[in-house]
Amino acid sequence: PPYAPAADRYSSMEYVRCGQSGLKLPPISLGLWHNFGSVDPYENARAMALRAFDLGITHFDLANNYGPEFGSAEATFGRILAEDLAPYRDELLISTKAGYRMMPGPYGEWGSRKYLLASLDQSLSRMGIDYVDIFYSHRYDPETPLAETMGALAHAVHAGKAIYTGISNYPPQATREAAALLEDMGAPLLIHQPKYSMLERAPEAELFGVLEDEGVGAIVFSPLAQGLLTDKYLDGIPEDSRAAKASGFLREDQVTDDVIGIVRALREIARERNQSMAQLALAWTRRRPEVTSTLIGASRAEQIEEAVAMLSQPPLAEDEIARIDAILA
Ligand code: NDP
Repeated sequence: PPYAPAADRYSSMEYVRCGQSGLKLPPISLGLWHNFGSVDPYENARAMALRAFDLGITHFDLANNYGPEFGSAEATFGRILAEDLAPYRDELLISTKAGYRMMPGPYGEWGSRKYLLASLDQSLSRMGIDYVDIFYSHRYDPETPLAETMGALAHAVHAGKAIYTGISNYPPQATREAAALLEDMGAPLLIHQPKYSMLERAPEAELFGVLEDEGVGAIVFSPLAQGLLTDKYLDGIPEDSRAAKASGFLREDQVTDDVIGIVRALREIARERNQSMAQLALAWTRRRPEVTSTLIGASRAEQIEEAVAMLSQPPLAEDEIARIDAILA
């Protein structure tokens, strides 16, 4: 049936300003790293994207090599746009990235201008769009001058192929330098995309402070540690989980007794708060003012509903945060 978006899709979501920019992001965004590839059923991918949009999730995060195979998540999203979401293009924030391995040869990874600009053109063509809202350098390249990589992002903006610039997985000092370069280039850095969850707290040490200073937003990825911070691995590895799937990036050996012990303890706090473990883990990322958006993945639409339902639950209280710190310590 033809898609008509939910009329109330903007009635309950409170959008969050991204750093000191003019742009607001949804507090929950949807990433297409897993479950949108050519190996995945199209109808499920479509159902997830449309459910997200109906719930007020305006931001869809992609990268050149999401799949598998590489590029196929963008192709899937392009099909969803063509068949359903294209009339709403101006209501959507679509991001893509280049930096990890995409093409064979010396121009298919890292941070050269050659790679980034060719890859962006490929991404636009796979998605069937003229521009992305955010174009990211996917990782810091210590061997390429930062001015070259940032110059490629700025060029994309000036050429009308991206609206804003972003960086991902950049260390704090390079983030400061990137922000200064992009400011001078007339394409101010909108956002940083770091990994952040109860199991991965590195950005708290320095990065969040840098982003605050620079007026740059943060969209944090793998807030559920790819599913570890849910109930699903407490009694083994279910067949339909990311850890069990051949194309999943979570390995069975990451499901350790230590992690399971932590999740069991955290789950008590979630239970007292009448929320799921996943909702507690997502709410925990929302306690930080530097975090503009929490970037989830999903394998079915119900997981997106559960994440969005977290937003209407009470935020974490100081004593709950302290108890969680003690468990994580
Ligand atoms: P999450 O930590 O949110 O993990 C998502 C996975 O957890 C789902 O696919 C699902 O896996 C499981 N899950 C989600 N909700 C629930 C639930 N309620 N109950 C039980 N299990 C649940 O994020 P991702 O690791 O998927 O990353 C999110 C996005 O971040 C990516 O799509 C991508 O856009 C971005 N990213 C960016 C990176 C970068 O370098 N910039 C690197 C990695 C991610 P399943 O059901 O299959 O077990």
